[in-house]
Amino acid sequence: MNTEQILSQTLETPCYYYNTKLLRTTLAALNAARANQRDIHVHYAVKANARPELLRIIAEAGLGADCVSGGEIKAAIEAGFPAESVVFAGVGKADWEIRLALEAGIGMFNVESLPELERISELAVEMGKTARVAFRINPNVDAHTHEKITTGLNENKFGIAMEDMVPAIRMSETLPSVSYEGLHFHIGSSILNLDIFGRLCERINELQDILEAEGIQTRNINVGGGLGTHYEDPDVHPIPDFIGYMDTFRKHLKLRPGQQLHMEPGRSIVAQCGMLLSRVLYVKQGHEKQFLILDAGFTDLIRPAFYNAHHLVQNLSAEGVEPTERYDVVGPICESSDVFQTGTMLPPSKRGDIIAFRTAGAYGEVMASQYNLRRLPGAVFE
Ligand SMILES: *Cc1c(COP(=O)(O)O)cnc(C)c1O
Repeated sequence: MNTEQILSQTLETPCYYYNTKLLRTTLAALNAARANQRDIHVHYAVKANARPELLRIIAEAGLGADCVSGGEIKAAIEAGFPAESVVFAGVGKADWEIRLALEAGIGMFNVESLPELERISELAVEMGKTARVAFRINPNVDAHTHEKITTGLNENKFGIAMEDMVPAIRMSETLPSVSYEGLHFHIGSSILNLDIFGRLCERINELQDILEAEGIQTRNINVGGGLGTHYEDPDVHPIPDFIGYMDTFRKHLKLRPGQQLHMEPGRSIVAQCGMLLSRVLYVKQGHEKQFLILDAGFTDLIRPAFYNAHHLVQNLSAEGVEPTERYDVVGPICESSDVFQTGTMLPPSKRGDIIAFRTAGAYGEVMASQYNLRRLPGAVFE
């Protein structure tokens, strides 16, 4: 990050600042980690950041797309992702979204319930198409992250319970215009402990044994996303450990001959290349605290209010100055949850200073809202 270059620009804040060079380096590291293995397919999870400028770079790097809505499918195809590389997940796929996906000829529906499977079959029959489906199975592996981002446990709105896996596959064999192509898993997000992915692999191996005993052939295994990123020290870890991540699957997952491995990383690809920039509007002295009131609020970056997430906060206008002051860093929105951090040590800060929230490229801008009829944050690219 080049602070001087940032400060020399006339930035309208709040805005997102994207380092496209870092994004390209990250994608190169990911591609190096999969070592040109043609049976490893990486689908970028578009929900992490759907900026067309970033999507184009990710498509150029040869990734596919993991989408969770019709809007994302459209955005991915417009950005240059081949339709066959698109996988479509989500517990509540609406008719128009299923139709759009069938029309576009996407690679795979990741199906999350039996009623959804029936609906996809009906629409595919109507349209004279065949839907390739994978079943999203809940492997009951605890991702040990925040409860709001843990998805792989049995009692969860996502996916199909393990016990229902074989009946679901059997049902797909009896329905017209759907073909069973694989299994899909996604156990949660922000996972830095690779052993958790190892446990997922072991569970998948068990499930594969069950399917083989039933005489069921499975062409595709999709292990989902969830690889974490380092929010505490982005400058030390700008690029995630893709090698360790890939090696975990190489080591623990027993792929059958010809089986294709799919992954759906989102956060790990885009988190570090983006930050939210805002300006200090006021420094307000309370009785016991002082507040740094910013022009950015949870409408621009909701993760702290939503998940108690921590982003490294830096005063770019006072770079190199000792952090001697303690602030509650807050936004302007009329909700008491509009607090980014409390008790943050920063250099003495004043009105007009540029404050950066680092590691905000994933689940940042894409979650922005206009609550309070605020303007959406803009975006600047380096
Ligand atoms: C959100 C999501 C992902 C991406 O998760 P990250 O933690 O951003 O890697 C992948 N697959 C599915 C099905 C998802 O819902």
